[in-house]
Amino acid sequence: LTDESLADALRRRILDLPGIEEAAEPEPASPAEEDARVRRILDVLAGAGLLLHVVPASAGGPHETVRCRMVCRAREALAFRSGLADVAFAMQGLGSAAIAFRGAEAQRRAYLPGVARGSLVAAVALTEPEAGSDLDAIATRARRDGDGYVLDGAKSLITNAGIADLYTLFARTSEDPRRGLTCFVVEKDDAGLAVTERLRVLAPHPIGSLELRGCRVPASRRVGEEGDGLGIARQVLDAYRPTVGAAAVGFARRALGEAVAHVKRRRQFGAPLSEQQGIQFMLADSATEIEAAALLVERAAALVDGGEGRGRARRASAMAKYLATETAQRVVDRAVQLHGGRGVIRGGVVERLYREVRALRIYEGASEVQRNIIAREILRGAEGAAR
Ligand SMILES: Cc1cc2nc3c(=O)[nH]c(=O)nc-3n(C[C@H](O)[C@H](O)[C@H](O)COP(=O)(O)OP(=O)(O)OC[C@H]3O[C@@H](n4cnc5c(N)ncnc54)[C@H](O)[C@@H]3O)c2cc1C
Repeated sequence: LTDESLADALRRRILDLPGIEEAAEPEPASPAEEDARVRRILDVLAGAGLLLHVVPASAGGPHETVRCRMVCRAREALAFRSGLADVAFAMQGLGSAAIAFRGAEAQRRAYLPGVARGSLVAAVALTEPEAGSDLDAIATRARRDGDGYVLDGAKSLITNAGIADLYTLFARTSEDPRRGLTCFVVEKDDAGLAVTERLRVLAPHPIGSLELRGCRVPASRRVGEEGDGLGIARQVLDAYRPTVGAAAVGFARRALGEAVAHVKRRRQFGAPLSEQQGIQFMLADSATEIEAAALLVERAAALVDGGEGRGRARRASAMAKYLATETAQRVVDRAVQLHGGRGVIRGGVVERLYREVRALRIYEGASEVQRNIIAREILRGAEGAAR
């Protein structure tokens, strides 16, 4: 079987999978309900074997290493159905990627099979109150103490805060501008770790803040060497940014489908709206922009999977996330416009998509940060802007 047919089979399985929360369902009424739904979705995804796609073969995954293309295809199909299902799936991968990519054998054995079974919920903790786009500003400290480290600081806007069993968490071990950060696995029951806040964002999404006060972790939970943190964070983000683009494509495809159905049904001026050329042009623009974004996502995923030169994959990955998330926002906005007043009524699918798609232009590096990365790689590359 080719990669393409495997990826397509995965997409079809997800589109037919029962038990995933749907965009048309009523939203969770409280953070507790949100958390319960994430757990239920994880059970469904794990039961169908889908979480295996975010771990390598050594932990039961279908491929020797995690395939960006497969994760992309899965996220596109999940986002098409439910933003919450997409987040639940994506975080199992993103939250454990540092371990999958750079963890010691014992760390992989300890965590990855549980992540793939859904019995361990994963999260990643980079962002802090004073360190968002600027990772150099990370101030959470990890001080060596005997056979372990003591962590002090705060993390904010952390997806799965409170439901996660493990956090791949980045802290400062020195002032070295290149090698100042180190990655650790912090477990939910570690003394000194507290979830201080549960936030509610535009669309259903489990998220909150963490505090670390004298939180002791054994040295065996350090991922890679001291000082490897920035490199690990970049590797994880380069591999997962195309998947954010893929989720954006999923939201956009859903929005276009809803818009097409609506304009065929809705009659004004004696005919269905779909007969107005102005409306047809909007549909044509959305369809074309979605295909362009999907192709860029596919190319970035192929470069990541092919182990392409770091700069090339990084640039493509940033382009895919940037273009696909901006495109999706525009496509979803058009779908709301095509629904007229019904488009903004709470509980409608396009209204929910409008809220769900928004955060994708911000997390894992906002669009401006992606443009910084693209420009830096272009200016640095001997190949110039050509390819
Ligand atoms: C729903 C959601 C889930 C998240 N989940 C996680 C998670 O699980 N783990 C985690 O660690 N973080 C998470 N985040 C945090 C996210 O990664 C940050 O919000 C993001 O990196 C931006 O940081 P910031 O919010 O501090 O904005 P800031 O860095 O303060 O930026 C504010 C604005 O300024 C722009 N800007 C910043 N620097 C520049 C520049 N040099 N040039 C031009 N423009 C610039 C930004 O693009 C942005 O538009 C999540 C965020 C959201 C919204």
